[in-house]
Amino acid sequence: MLPHPSDAARPAADDVDPALLAEGPREECGVFGIFAPGEDVATLSFYGLYALQHRGQESAGIAVSNGRRIVVHKDMGLVNQVFRETSLAALEGDLAIGHTRYSTTGASSWANAQPQYREVEQGGGLALGHNGNLVNTAELARRLELSPGNDSELMAELLARETVESGSLQAAILRVAPLLQGAFSVTVMDQRRLYAFRDPGGFRPLVVGRLANGGWVVASETSALDIVGAVTVREVAPGELVVVDEDGLSGHRFAEPSPSYCLFEWVYLARPDHRQDGSSVYSVRRETGRVLAREAPVAADVVIPVPDSGTAAAAGYADEAGLPYAEGLVKNRYVGRTFIEPSDTLRQLGIRLKLSPVAEVIEGQRLVVVDDSIVRGNTSRQLVAMLRAAGAAEVHLRITSPPIAHPCYYGIDMATRAELIGADLAVEEIREFVGADSLHYVSLDGLMGATPQEPDALCRACFDGRYPVAVPGEHEQLAQIKFDFDGAATPAASD
Ligand code: SF4
Repeated sequence: MLPHPSDAARPAADDVDPALLAEGPREECGVFGIFAPGEDVATLSFYGLYALQHRGQESAGIAVSNGRRIVVHKDMGLVNQVFRETSLAALEGDLAIGHTRYSTTGASSWANAQPQYREVEQGGGLALGHNGNLVNTAELARRLELSPGNDSELMAELLARETVESGSLQAAILRVAPLLQGAFSVTVMDQRRLYAFRDPGGFRPLVVGRLANGGWVVASETSALDIVGAVTVREVAPGELVVVDEDGLSGHRFAEPSPSYCLFEWVYLARPDHRQDGSSVYSVRRETGRVLAREAPVAADVVIPVPDSGTAAAAGYADEAGLPYAEGLVKNRYVGRTFIEPSDTLRQLGIRLKLSPVAEVIEGQRLVVVDDSIVRGNTSRQLVAMLRAAGAAEVHLRITSPPIAHPCYYGIDMATRAELIGADLAVEEIREFVGADSLHYVSLDGLMGATPQEPDALCRACFDGRYPVAVPGEHEQLAQIKFDFDGAATPAASD
């Protein structure tokens, strides 16, 4: 069972009991950008970041330009901890980008918080926010003789350097973006323009919206457009750079699209109200629950979700199975947001800190329990034990993703291969470990069929090990990419 990112706090040390804080996948970041002369762009960015809080809780930041200079305010903590009315009032301008961060590379520290700012010659500068993870950071740093830092720092440094060389940030992005490998949905700004670009795979979402006054907004998810009153216009296409200034929006391709949309965004990462390719995440999750009910029916009395990401799927399962749906678990929503070091007493409480059973729903019942995934298995084991202690007659676990057997290198922090229970154990062995009466995962085909995207356009490497962009050290590669600073990165067939 996975706590949703909105409740996750990153363990402060490796020995923190993962079940106590957050056992499973966490997003790397959320990005936001706005070009809206005459509007309070800092406050709108603040609300946009609020809607993206689930994509990162370690730090938050906003950069604003008044046309002459860029001011950045960033700090560790949640969006509403980092910003106050006074700090927002000091951020005056027509153009802003914002960022929420969870670190998958680089330490969790103020210096690594984003937006990253870099001076460019003649008093100018740029600010950058990145969601994703590059797989060639070390190689880029070595070849370009830059200090490696994390991937976002490297990107900002590279763009600043190229802006000096080529005379404009737009030219610099068009030259640098093809050199980057991996997942990157990026917002960048200089004093006068907003830029947003997305890797050719489009691993992480990036959408464009329009405000009633004609201003433009870009964000990781449509929920961040909705909250500021922007109408969704389109996605930033894989391999595309969009530029917004006083003349409007223009699109520029820097690489051929080769879609590898993250399948796990549909299962767990994105907010249920995010829409992509004509479907909401909510409807995909509900349909996945229906598929699961057809693939793995069981004689039971009631279907309960593990909140929140199991909620829509549990409703779908109950519908399809003709079983009642009930809320048998209550989420202690704010527990995961503490930075208090867990004591032994707290460790023993384990999952009880996150979830509480509703005895009236559970007692004497044969339960179908719908959850999004199993990463290490410890939390699912505690969950089953807690439900039995609350009086459940039977516990049948139904999981809305296939077993996670491979790590993600494209911006989702799951676990190492050695920690993934799905990497080594068969489903029956996992069932035994977690102590359920039955355990079924949705099939990969069933899950992909519930999304609006073609299977070939989806990354599902954490399930099947077929990495769409070559990862150093991984053998299961579909493509290798040749690196050439003077030319575009060119995919080549793997052996
Ligand atoms: S490996 Fe899994 S989590 Fe990572 S991008 Fe691919 S589908 Fe998403």
